[in-house]
Amino acid sequence: MVLKLAIQKSGRLHEDSVKLLKECGIEINNNVKNQLKATAANFPLEVFFLRDDDIPQYVEDGVADIGFVGENVVYESQKEVKVAELLGFGKCRLSIATAKADTYTGPAFLQGKKIATSYPVLVAQFLKKNNIQAEIHEISGSVEIAPSIGLADAVCDLVSSGSTLFMNGLKETEVILQSQSALIQTPELSPEKSLILQKLLFRIQTVKKAKG
Ligand code: ATP
Ligand code: ZN
Repeated sequence: MVLKLAIQKSGRLHEDSVKLLKECGIEINNNVKNQLKATAANFPLEVFFLRDDDIPQYVEDGVADIGFVGENVVYESQKEVKVAELLGFGKCRLSIATAKADTYTGPAFLQGKKIATSYPVLVAQFLKKNNIQAEIHEISGSVEIAPSIGLADAVCDLVSSGSTLFMNGLKETEVILQSQSALIQTPELSPEKSLILQKLLFRIQTVKKAKG
């Protein structure tokens, strides 16, 4: 019996995901390029390498038992998965940004405006909570250029330092979600797999405590 874990194949979360496993004493052979899966040598774990956006779906379906993925992706996906542990890496904010010259007075600023984002679900929730009617324009990448090309009045995008926004003439005005990577689990896990997960969670918690 092995526990199947999905992690990002390449990108911002990949290295920290592999590093966390290593810190937990779990060695995976992922030297071969373009590999889709790897088996741990010293722990009952099989690792799948996927696009981060696909991880909640695979975990909901039970194709993978657990996954390491950003909270932003989990909540946007609206999949039936449980966040079992926050992992402490991949920290970022999902934020509203407006033109530097705009005077942002609060969510009311967005009334009747057009917002470009790759996170339509989370933006819609934010607008609803604040009783704001605005148009959401979904785009999949380079969200931050939308205002300068006249596609939107504001954007909602992931931010860590804010330098990308600044370079595009924008400023961060409102944080709608604080995010970090999380361990998510499938809704139904067999007792045998639950036991493996408990062992893994114990190791992760020990690593987190040691880091303080
Ligand atoms: P994939 O090819 O797997 O779909 P991607 O391009 O969607 O990758 P990355 O840019 O690698 O994704 O980001 C993965 C995750 O890293 C984000 O969903 C988020 O949780 C986290 N992250 C941390 N800081 C940032 C940041 N400054 N910008 C974007 N994502 C960040
Ligand atoms: Zn992605």
